[in-house]
Amino acid sequence: MEIKKLMVIGAGQMGSGIAQVAAQAGLEVVLHDLKPEFVDRGLSVITKNLSRDVEKGRKTDEEMQAVLSRIQPSTDIEHAKEVDIVVEAAIENMEVKSKLFRQLDELAPAHAILASNTSSLPITEIAAVTGRPEQVIGMHFMNPVPVMKLIEVIRGLATSDETYQAVAALSEKMNKTAVEVNDFPGFVSNRILLPMINEAIYCVYEGVATPEAIDEVMKLGMNHPMGPLTLADFIGLDTCLYIMEILHEGLGDSKYRPCPLLRKYVKAGWLGRKSGRGFYQYN
Ligand code: NAD
Repeated sequence: MEIKKLMVIGAGQMGSGIAQVAAQAGLEVVLHDLKPEFVDRGLSVITKNLSRDVEKGRKTDEEMQAVLSRIQPSTDIEHAKEVDIVVEAAIENMEVKSKLFRQLDELAPAHAILASNTSSLPITEIAAVTGRPEQVIGMHFMNPVPVMKLIEVIRGLATSDETYQAVAALSEKMNKTAVEVNDFPGFVSNRILLPMINEAIYCVYEGVATPEAIDEVMKLGMNHPMGPLTLADFIGLDTCLYIMEILHEGLGDSKYRPCPLLRKYVKAGWLGRKSGRGFYQYN
């Protein structure tokens, strides 16, 4: 199946990036959110990104205009009736996602694929609320979407080979690399990344070293571009805690227990960059 028209649900940080890369790949895009001002905010981020590309000589002004002209703003979910694929990037909440997938299943054409950009919720469970679980799949884009190459493509229990192949081809068209993963808590990316971050927090908690020293060890010694605690502050400590809870609960193994210091920081409102303080202070 050739995918020509794509709808993005949620015009936030991730949704706007997904709309941008899809439109750059030549697809017709519907960018949908609850209110016009939310869609406008997403569109202005896209315009800013594209303008930077024009300034740097990576795109012409005509190319930028062509990309923007392929993005149709929407606050009406009925637009799902016209598309070949929907990529849901609304907030990380099972109730919200279940409600959306039920609606999308009713509206979208029979051939349409329903994808979710969830970073932690089970694709199999999202698929189960629809009448087309074989056409439901995870497309886990990385932040910032226009820059990062990976799409972790998550197969739910019932996802068909045909759906996977269509999504892999679409990923390539969007100049991304699809990597196939099965549906287990944290998928691969967060299953490996978050326990590493959690362990770095244990190192602070137990007084093994300062945050600066821990980050320096991982940067200079392991060639990580960013230390784990700097990265934790960037992701948001509340999000880190939330994902550790998902791993702990979903896999039932005490090795995933969130570090008490992580809980303490979150309770204190020290959420990282976004709150001005986490393992480091930000102005
Ligand atoms: P965000 O808060 O920036 O954007 C979410 C948007 O969804 C908001 O504009 C909100 O108005 C909209 N929305 C909420 N409910 C909606 C509904 N019922 N219908 C339509 N729109 C609705 O969040 P984000 O960071 O872009 O994350 C979106 C999704 O992507 C989440 O599932 C998140 O887990 C996942 N994700 C995030 C990252 C990241 O680094 N931020 C990375 C990978 C995946």
